[in-house]
Amino acid sequence: MRPFAYVKPVDVEAALRAAAEPGAKFLGGGTNLVDLMREGIERPDTVVDVTGLPFDTVEELPDGGLRIGALVRNSALAADRRVRTRYPMLSQALLSGASPQLRNMATVGGNLLQRARCPYFYDHASACNKRRPGSGCDALEGFNRGCAILGVSQSCIAAHPSDLCVALAALDAVAEVRGADGTRRIPLTDFHRLPAGTPDIETELGPGELVTAVELPPLAIPSRYRKVRDRASYAFALVSVAAALEVRDGTVTQVRLALGGLAPKPWRAREAERILLGGPAGEASFRRAAEAELPAATTRPGNAFKAGLAVATTTATLRELNEGGAR
Ligand code: SF4
Repeated sequence: MRPFAYVKPVDVEAALRAAAEPGAKFLGGGTNLVDLMREGIERPDTVVDVTGLPFDTVEELPDGGLRIGALVRNSALAADRRVRTRYPMLSQALLSGASPQLRNMATVGGNLLQRARCPYFYDHASACNKRRPGSGCDALEGFNRGCAILGVSQSCIAAHPSDLCVALAALDAVAEVRGADGTRRIPLTDFHRLPAGTPDIETELGPGELVTAVELPPLAIPSRYRKVRDRASYAFALVSVAAALEVRDGTVTQVRLALGGLAPKPWRAREAERILLGGPAGEASFRRAAEAELPAATTRPGNAFKAGLAVATTTATLRELNEGGAR
């Protein structure tokens, strides 16, 4: 591993000052960054350890929502009674990710910033525009079983790896970030960027900006997170679905839907939501709505199966919520 300086600031101002130096990188739980440093993909001059900052609590908001500090550990958030009862999709998404040991270390802020798990991204012998801009993308014609089919470009087809972020996108969560110019708020659905011609730029964060919290609006309807993967644990999603659904007298009166494993960012399924809202609740309409989200899909032989899997998984998740089996 390349040598680097290490600092652990005691307040936010000091952390922002340290991060303003060229080559500085924030460190939270380290479950992704340390791996990337070990592989020589991330090469910071200075690691700014923010785990001493006071962002490790979950607090009630006046509107009935929750404010989650960026340093809350994934395992603590998944176990929080308020999250389990009011946002079950969020708790389920967290528990479907990584392993217990990793969840004990990983933070909410770090989860938002985790990088692609595309094998070529980690292989210095391969062409990868995300690791080395302008070098090409070996996944286009290579092993792309886990790659994205929505929102991709010829520059990059890597899928976003987070489970938590899919649930946050469905919940209309908002990230709070601090930088040299103050505090600003970014809706989770806008936080991550599609690759276009610059897949190395993955979020809307500016240089030296720090995620300090994520806020959840209240949710008063049943919700669920369903993940399909190659192994029962410790595997990234081939397809995942975060859904919340309210049905009254057979009509969909509220719906939230986001998809994971399918795009370079958590994919809010707006078209499917539009079709579902106000329409009949049932197998046929759930399937039709799921299919409506896929026409823009760009598949390759290795990942074409994801389109059908996404329709089946979305339909099954909505069916389960409609039948009342997922509160
Ligand atoms: Fe790199 Fe993206 Fe291509 Fe993977 S899909 S090789 S991360 S550019």
